Amino acid sequence: MSKRDYYEVLGVAKGADEKEIKKAYRRIAMKNHPDRNPDDPKAEDIFKEATEAYEVLSDSEKRATYDRFGHDAVGGGGFGRGGGGGEGFSDIFGDVFGDIFGGGGGRSRGPQRGSDLRYNLEIDLEQAVRGTTSKIRIPTLVACKPCGGSGAKKGSTPLTCGTCNGVGQVRMQQGFFAVQQTCPNCRGSGQLISDPCRECHGQGRVEEVKTLSVKVPPGVDTGDRIRLSGEGEASPDGGPSGDLYVQMSVRPHPIFKRDGKHLHCEVPISFVDAALGGELDVPTLDGRVKLKIPAETQTGKAFRLRGKGITPVRGGTTGDLICKVVIETPVSLNKHQKDLLEEFRASMEGDDKQSPRKKSWFDGVKDFFDDMKI
Ligand SMILES: [Zn+2]
Ligand SMILES: [Zn+2]
Repeated sequence: MSKRDYYEVLGVAKGADEKEIKKAYRRIAMKNHPDRNPDDPKAEDIFKEATEAYEVLSDSEKRATYDRFGHDAVGGGGFGRGGGGGEGFSDIFGDVFGDIFGGGGGRSRGPQRGSDLRYNLEIDLEQAVRGTTSKIRIPTLVACKPCGGSGAKKGSTPLTCGTCNGVGQVRMQQGFFAVQQTCPNCRGSGQLISDPCRECHGQGRVEEVKTLSVKVPPGVDTGDRIRLSGEGEASPDGGPSGDLYVQMSVRPHPIFKRDGKHLHCEVPISFVDAALGGELDVPTLDGRVKLKIPAETQTGKAFRLRGKGITPVRGGTTGDLICKVVIETPVSLNKHQKDLLEEFRASMEGDDKQSPRKKSWFDGVKDFFDDMKI
């Protein structure tokens, strides 16, 4: 069965903005929600189709991918097919239906919690491994000092809102549904300010760029999140502040590649060292160690240095450093060196046993041509 175009499903134009998409989805979903249409498989299908379309079009990244490559590129049916589908479902519901069905408890009554903030912090691999303290500057809303965050001018007190009797929520009739809604008169705070504070114009909060020290524990990796409780935006009405989430990302390193708790690096060696064996200085994150190369080492061989990797932030054994040797062909040879190598070449002539890989490769090529009867 071929799928309908997502824009067509929601009945919006290709260039529709976020708001229009949300509104269109809400309209279709409210009408066809399975809870309201038990025993109506057709309504359920419409609901599912719209939910799938909304899931894609409401996510700017997914939407861009869909616009360019179509259904297949965005994974098609995310809804109701088990797996991750259920999660996306509840996310959407919190978002679209939150203010109608009363949301997930957080916004019930009383003072609101301030919004959470997110900050992307980039650090070097060395800092990630050893831990560091980073100063960050973040624009946020803080409680207004002159009015103590109440929004009311000093000396005056806020009045209780008459529309909701200070509860912050009102019951509204929507079709045949009675739903709780945030009080439109006081916007949920339950209070009205008759004499607003001049500093914050009655908002209770002012914009400020806050400087914070973030303690980054040793071992963090890209994708880890550090929560600074209470460092988010101040509440608009005297409630608790939100939290600040610092999203970690570790810059690529010129020598080491990180793979969880292990580190990888490439070490160039001369073909003489590779053939005869030798000892190399290998860099680690805290200095260098000696690495013994056995005779007859082939290019690409990896050596594992136990415990020279990273100790994970959540504890556990320290990872390893894995060094891959790469044989380097010598350049800018002088006459004498070239003569030595000519002599060496002559000594190797006709002796396949000394180049096992080359021999098996040539044998393979010969079989290939024999099979093709060339
Ligand atoms: Zn104020
Ligand atoms: Zn009110």
